[in-house]
Amino acid sequence: MIRSDEKPRVLIDLDGVVRDWVGSLVRVYKQKYPDHEVLPVTSRALEEFFPIGEEIYRFVDGQHIEDIMVNAEPYPGAVEALQRWEAVFEIVVVTAQPPNWRYANFIWIGKHRIPTNEVHICFQKSRIDGVALLDDFVDNLEDFAATGRLAVCMDRPWNQEWKGERVKTVEEFFRLVQYRLNISSKKVPLEK
Ligand SMILES: [Mg+2]
Repeated sequence: MIRSDEKPRVLIDLDGVVRDWVGSLVRVYKQKYPDHEVLPVTSRALEEFFPIGEEIYRFVDGQHIEDIMVNAEPYPGAVEALQRWEAVFEIVVVTAQPPNWRYANFIWIGKHRIPTNEVHICFQKSRIDGVALLDDFVDNLEDFAATGRLAVCMDRPWNQEWKGERVKTVEEFFRLVQYRLNISSKKVPLEK
């Protein structure tokens, strides 16, 4: 096992990367409004996709945030990839959350055994030390790339305008960083 302080630090966003926040929101919404048709979410303007329009923000923030966060599913394979690559990289969680949303994050991180020693709840992710960032929000990627470090986009319908590096899975992200840092594949545990 390589010591934490010797491993390259990589920054990992949660929502839209590891945690299917939008899927969880749709699930909770459908429980309340089973007859409503939710359109595929292709931007952060949630009011365009949920029939209650602007009310969606009150639905999330005021009433259902705990359920949406705590009971969100991870994307398939995402947690397994983090657990596998922890042998090579120091995994640092960086997630932007309003104050009220913070608590459920820690529950979710524990519930899904996210292998991290460090969680940052912050909006300016580029201020955190790390060689690479995996995120689904273009503003975060642009900020981070402007510091000269590797910004990698998790491919989602709402970030198609990003022109830089793009991956479809967490596993693919780690392989890319491994390649860029020239890390021997001997260090990487075999896939189960
Ligand atoms: Mg995100």
